[in-house]
Amino acid sequence: MTKRPWYADGLRFTCTGCGDCCTGDPGAVWVNDEEIAALAEHLELSPKDFERRYVRRLARGRSLFERFNGDCVFFDPESRGCQVYEARPVQCRTWPFWDENLESEDAWCEAEGSCPGAGEGELVSLDRIRAQLRVHRAARKKD
Ligand code: SF4
Repeated sequence: MTKRPWYADGLRFTCTGCGDCCTGDPGAVWVNDEEIAALAEHLELSPKDFERRYVRRLARGRSLFERFNGDCVFFDPESRGCQVYEARPVQCRTWPFWDENLESEDAWCEAEGSCPGAGEGELVSLDRIRAQLRVHRAARKKD
């Protein structure tokens, strides 16, 4: 039988749209071939052109470019919104339900510290959290 995780009763999350996760300290937004294809289609570019313009290679895989201040290349500072929201990568879709944030209550508290939406708002059920975890893991296996 699968052990019930510490978040078995669900976790609260509603994005406030603050944009903090798209800006600030340097980071990586990992993208695999499928995510690149979806973003390229959204911008009416070929995957090759998209990759040349917006993707950098890091030791662990490919990531979207950041601006000099750490903002994601697709973050619009005026609206504080994502310019490719409909085609955003899995990493952005599944936050904060990543393995590293759910490995312990302390890890979740840390996520809450960096994201005003984590721990607040809608109660997300265990089934939905698990579904998000599966999607996130599957995407990262294709990096
Ligand atoms: S930091 Fe959290 S609340 Fe703010 S935009 Fe990102 S996911 Fe939404």
